[in-house]
Amino acid sequence: MKITRINSLLQETPVGKKVVVAGWLRTRRDSSNFSFLEVNDGSCLSNLQIIADDGLDNYESKIKKLTTGCSIKVEGELKESPAKGQSVEILAERIDIVGWADPDLYPLQKKRHSFEFLREISHLRPRTNALGGVARVRSRLSYAVHEYFKKKDFFQIHTPVITTSDCEGAGEMFRVVTEPELAGTSEENKSFFGRNAGLTVSGQLQAEVYAQALGSVYTFGPTFRAENSNTSRHLAEFWMLEPEMAFCDLNCNMDLAEEMLKYLLSDVLEHCQEDMELFNRFIEKGLVNKLQHVIDNEFVRISYTEAVEQLQKSSQKFEFPVSWGVDLQSEHERYLTETVYKLPLIVTDYPASIKPFYMRVNDDGTTVAAMDILVAGIGEIVGGSQREERYDVLLGRMQQSGIDEEEYQWYLDLRRYGTTPHSGFGLGFERLVQFVTGMHNIREVIPFPRTPGFAPC
Ligand code: ATP
Ligand code: MN
Repeated sequence: MKITRINSLLQETPVGKKVVVAGWLRTRRDSSNFSFLEVNDGSCLSNLQIIADDGLDNYESKIKKLTTGCSIKVEGELKESPAKGQSVEILAERIDIVGWADPDLYPLQKKRHSFEFLREISHLRPRTNALGGVARVRSRLSYAVHEYFKKKDFFQIHTPVITTSDCEGAGEMFRVVTEPELAGTSEENKSFFGRNAGLTVSGQLQAEVYAQALGSVYTFGPTFRAENSNTSRHLAEFWMLEPEMAFCDLNCNMDLAEEMLKYLLSDVLEHCQEDMELFNRFIEKGLVNKLQHVIDNEFVRISYTEAVEQLQKSSQKFEFPVSWGVDLQSEHERYLTETVYKLPLIVTDYPASIKPFYMRVNDDGTTVAAMDILVAGIGEIVGGSQREERYDVLLGRMQQSGIDEEEYQWYLDLRRYGTTPHSGFGLGFERLVQFVTGMHNIREVIPFPRTPGFAPC
């Protein structure tokens, strides 16, 4: 008989039917002549209760020796459950023990473990309620991303992981070299690609190429930054969602980002209710209301200049002083969105001097058409801009920034042949998962986090 996933059993509840479920034991409780087994198969937060009575031929020899973490397969009849808090249970007719888990060694015991401890066992932590829930919510969000963009007639572009262009600044790039290159024994000391290569810090420039052909595209994949920042919001490897749209100015860009974020939040509230309720109770009190508040209200839009004025007239003490021209720090971003506006905030028109060369220069000549979206608890979740579509202006900005125009001829060509006003943004996918689940540390929302000094498996 085929295995049925617990999630679908609980939704369809085919009471009276014979079913097979398979999963990992959470607990075993013994009564006089039978045992209750709580099984979780990862399909949802809920466990399924199994009644195993002493009529089963392996009851004494095996079932009564089951401990947390063992994998089992259960065949039996689905029954209405008299117990509180669960609708159905299985009266087992046969239980196979698939894999034992030595109780003296298995690190996940019934008590609650700290997230720091769980990070040290990243191969076992998805078996906990919280980390399992994060994985399900993350998967749902990813699915919703593709669904949203499909509905909007966008095409997904698989941009390269190995890149030879560095659009954010050389300091944060991981170099890609071969073993012989490293050892200096490669033929004529040639590098593999004939030029410097690194792990991508953003797929934007390549996404622009396809936006200038397919109109509306997005890239969604792993991104790497060798930044030595040990914060609760930075990883060395993270996933970034980057839409890019031709014939779209900054307002169009902001409208899309806001609509998309609201779509993703609504989707998760609708489809991940059980996991979201867990986060709401145990991770961040009021989480669901927070997200609903974001969905129900328009984001506030202010310029960088207004943001700086707000910060300067506030009585709040900041670690980093604020003046026009400095980049906003997380403490500033959070103060603005959490304390001043109490809503997601889109800050636009940053000084050109603190933003990359590809952002479109405004008429004032000193600011660029950038937009960052800031949310409570995190700060920047989205960074985007209208791109410079004017060949001469872009060339000037590249020269100013010391960028080799030969290497970026292809990028300049996009402005020479059928240029368009176009724009896009990057959403840090883990920051979104953090915001949605309320998890405090970004290391808990990616299955295998990589940070300075940390990459266990
Ligand atoms: P921050 O100032 O927070 O370091 P950034 O300005 O470097 O962010 P961008 O280069 O604009 O960020 O990248 C776009 C988005 O990618 C950010 O808005 C953020 O959500 C996410 N992001 C950037 N760096 C990281 C990182 N190291 N780990 C996880 N997400 C990141
Ligand atoms: Mn950064």
